[in-house]
Amino acid sequence: MIDPWGTRDRYNWSDGSVTIVQAYQIDASAPPPQSADTISRVSQELLSGTATDGTNVTVVFVNEGAYEADPVTYRVDPTLDDTNPNNDNSNYATRDHIVSLAPNSTPETVAHEGGHVLVGGARNDYYDPKFDDSGNKIGTEARPGHENTLMGDLGGSTNSQQVDDFLGARADRTFDCELATFSCTRR
Ligand SMILES: [Zn+2]
Repeated sequence: MIDPWGTRDRYNWSDGSVTIVQAYQIDASAPPPQSADTISRVSQELLSGTATDGTNVTVVFVNEGAYEADPVTYRVDPTLDDTNPNNDNSNYATRDHIVSLAPNSTPETVAHEGGHVLVGGARNDYYDPKFDDSGNKIGTEARPGHENTLMGDLGGSTNSQQVDDFLGARADRTFDCELATFSCTRR
């Protein structure tokens, strides 16, 4: 079956840790501001973490569009602006396998959008709009407990609640893996 968000594998290791692997590719006709190396690096750095129950979760984004059937695609959209306080017009992950990024998007934004990919596009943001005294939207602010986090204000990596969201999302393929032998069996 084709997952609208690209193939997502989950590996449950015998020590209780979990690895989530998300396939992606670069749109060569509209390459995103970040290289594949950067996308892979910041995604693993900022999306990996520890769930509420203590499960260590490692997130790996692999640029394997060439041989995966349905990777998610990263591309640039010149009409977007990552500094726009109205974040409807900053960056978005659509339901067509595609993450569209502003030309001025940051590596943190790339990882944040990857966080949406990991949950199949569910709304796992942890911020609310912020208004000035006249009622004009001037940006967003993290919800309490989500300050300085990736899905809150792009100010760091994920917190436990945000990692819980990734663990709760459906994987296309799930494997049980033995650390001692490094062997996996598909469920
Ligand atoms: Zn978001």
